[in-house]
Amino acid sequence: MRLADIGANLTHAAFRDDLGEVLERARGAGVATIVVTGTTVEDSRRAMQLAQAHPGLLHATAGVHPHHARECGPDTIPALRALAGQPGVVALGECGLDFNRNYSPHPDQEKWFLAQLELACELGKPLFLHSRDAHPRFAEILRAHRDRLPQAVAHCFTGERDELRAYLELGLYVGITGWICDERRGKHLLGLVREIPCDRLLLETDAPYLTPRDLHPQPKARRNEPAFLPHILRRVAQALGRPAEEVAADTAGNARTLFGL
Ligand SMILES: [Zn+2]
Repeated sequence: MRLADIGANLTHAAFRDDLGEVLERARGAGVATIVVTGTTVEDSRRAMQLAQAHPGLLHATAGVHPHHARECGPDTIPALRALAGQPGVVALGECGLDFNRNYSPHPDQEKWFLAQLELACELGKPLFLHSRDAHPRFAEILRAHRDRLPQAVAHCFTGERDELRAYLELGLYVGITGWICDERRGKHLLGLVREIPCDRLLLETDAPYLTPRDLHPQPKARRNEPAFLPHILRRVAQALGRPAEEVAADTAGNARTLFGL
């Protein structure tokens, strides 16, 4: 099996002491491709450095998460533009809207989402999108750009049917995390995942976050890591009623197509 984890926050402090072992375990578990998520300019730079230190296995995105929108300024877009041209950087993002925690005011979130969206349209660079509790505003903004929109993924999809349909209608890929393993809040995804065409489905851990709740025993400090991707794969394959090997091959192929790997 050669799996692709399209979203892992490997620059997170949780991986500072043992990243080498984490990558070894990922390889051992069949995870052959990992896209390291950039969430601020500085963090995106570190993600790029990681990708360049582990060519083939690691790739990076460059962007500013909506939580950090309030920290953006006149240097942000030039910095992301420069990063987007560097080896190992395969997408812009993560960017989008997060109306769940509201760490940044909505006007700031929209302003910097738009700016990154415009940059991706201009460069024709794939987009790694984050949307939480921001439906339908998020899709509205994308729709206004639809004729120029590059290939894009709505990562960590946790929404409901109308939101999923809006994304598919926009031609987006959809990233499924271990949220689908959560019997309290992710149950609806077991049905919804069947509505995602097999050429639009992607898998991700969002490590170190979103450790699958049905993983036993739970890892130390409940830290999620790319080696747990096969666990998510099995749950998704079960929901689809398809062999895990097939879903692994489809989703890894989709990751290669989306990010041009
Ligand atoms: Zn996200």
